[in-house]
Amino acid sequence: MKWTDVDPDRVGLRVERLGIRRDARPILSDVSLTVRAGELLALVGPNGAGKSTLLAAICGDLAPAAGTIEFAGRPLTRWAPVELARLRAMLPQRATMSFPFTVAEVVAMGRAPWAGTRLAAEDDDAVAEALRLTGMQTFAGRVFSALSGGEQARVALARVLAQRTPMLLLDEPTAALDLHHQELVLRLARDRAQQGGSVVIVLHDLGLAAAYADRIALLAGGRLVADGPPDAVLTADRLSEVYQHEVEVLPHPHTGVPLVLPVRP
Ligand code: ADP
Ligand code: MG
Repeated sequence: MKWTDVDPDRVGLRVERLGIRRDARPILSDVSLTVRAGELLALVGPNGAGKSTLLAAICGDLAPAAGTIEFAGRPLTRWAPVELARLRAMLPQRATMSFPFTVAEVVAMGRAPWAGTRLAAEDDDAVAEALRLTGMQTFAGRVFSALSGGEQARVALARVLAQRTPMLLLDEPTAALDLHHQELVLRLARDRAQQGGSVVIVLHDLGLAAAYADRIALLAGGRLVADGPPDAVLTADRLSEVYQHEVEVLPHPHTGVPLVLPVRP
């Protein structure tokens, strides 16, 4: 399966009344969320809200205490590991690399799920394309551990893109990036969605989320506080309460896209 070959009606993610506990403590409670094929969902919320936990559960790395997760109408638990690996790619919030791999090697690792399949023929093409999309082609021969934090983040994203999965789960992909590369990453995510993928992206920059996401899901204290189009979710009252900091929300003078500004004394 390649993401461009997938029937758009069959991709997509449904999370139903999900509960996750860790160390006997509830981390997520009653979270329901749908991401259709072709949709870019931004997942936002304060530190500790449970955003990374939700991505880990969707990825299949954490077993739910309650509720269900389905891809393309089939429960997560009924996908074989190799099928899952070809279905969704995850960019973790923190990635470490203990061996001196080159950038090209790190990105090529993303192709492992396709080894021995017909689509392994696309490996070189997928790696080259991912390096080009992230602007890392001139870094291909460099050692990953000797790159800057932002460069490493772009390589990690390239590895995810090289997987060519119909679903992308990106946990704070822009955290280490400059303004230009933040925009680049959001454009890539939006392109993937427009080509029929389902993309979930954790962001702290609410303006970036408003500008690019089809929908925003706001998580706080392990619960979904709001889910909808950016201008419906990003209201000053709601954000001020959730972030415990007074904010103003103003429409952009030309585009009308919400701009979120913390109130500064
Ligand atoms: P976010 O990504 O929204 O900042 P996380 O999903 O990482 O938040 O964390 C949500 C909550 O779960 C936090 O209170 C955090 O301390 C807790 N948590 C995260 N990882 C673990 C873990 N491995 N064991 C126990 N609790 C954890
Ligand atoms: Mg997190």
